[in-house]
Amino acid sequence: MDRKQFINRSLLGMAALAAAPSLAVSCAAKSGSKGKADNKAQGVLNISCQEGVTPGESLNEKLDFLESLGVVGFEPGGRGLGDRITELQDALKDRNIKVSAICAGFDGFILAEDPAVKESFDTTMRQIIDAAGALGSTGVIMVPAFNGQKPCKPHTLETRDFLCEQLHELGEYAQQHDTTIILEPLNRKEAFYLRLVADAAAICRDADSAGVKCMGDFWHMQEETSDYGAFMSAGTKYLQHVHIASRGRRLMPGEDGEKDNYVDGFKALKEMGYQNYVSFECGTKGDRKETLTAAVNLLRSQWEQA
Ligand code: MG
Repeated sequence: MDRKQFINRSLLGMAALAAAPSLAVSCAAKSGSKGKADNKAQGVLNISCQEGVTPGESLNEKLDFLESLGVVGFEPGGRGLGDRITELQDALKDRNIKVSAICAGFDGFILAEDPAVKESFDTTMRQIIDAAGALGSTGVIMVPAFNGQKPCKPHTLETRDFLCEQLHELGEYAQQHDTTIILEPLNRKEAFYLRLVADAAAICRDADSAGVKCMGDFWHMQEETSDYGAFMSAGTKYLQHVHIASRGRRLMPGEDGEKDNYVDGFKALKEMGYQNYVSFECGTKGDRKETLTAAVNLLRSQWEQA
């Protein structure tokens, strides 16, 4: 071996050595990322109930009942919320129940053609956001426009751009108050404008504010081709809340028998590591205490199956 050969071989050896650590690093990175995937937080079933759905005469009676079922979230309406902050804070003190989300309650709507109606939305929505933040809510639920709300901006690309701009401002405002706004897609009979969880999630993305989120409602998700696909399309980045009801008549889960299957959707929530709430928004044909108790048990057993 001459000197040149020796140097070349040495350089090759050095190159191999230099490559080795990066090989090791990439293997470590792989096993590290696998480990991370395995350790990814599993979704949890945090059950919540809307105030109007909960049995009980007074706020404390309602919360006592929810507590007895191990329900951990409470969803009040947004109307007049600013005047109820102390009442709610006092009632929730020393309980294992938090405000999950705030259900609408504002005047007007964001896509109103009439400036006065839009102005009314802007003012009252911001008041509810202030209160939601003070109560530690995950967000305030809103629908861009119900079918019956007219005159409404036309369903065009320009309106979508306008919506995203307006949501951006609202989302930034919500972030300043430690909360979010949550877009709720509804079925076509109620709100043709926004029907699918994936579309709501895409609007969140394009609104480009961490304060703009979306949700899925198992009742309205009759629009979806897949509960699993719908939740996955939003992922934990955008999915901030879930509503649940029976799937035939919008009663307590279980009141519509076989139809009330949530396993596919729960599978997605589990896999994605969902940490927010699944909240009852429904009526009942039976005794509210009995049907709500049975529904909570049904959700828990289907969560286990998922
Ligand atoms: Mg709903």
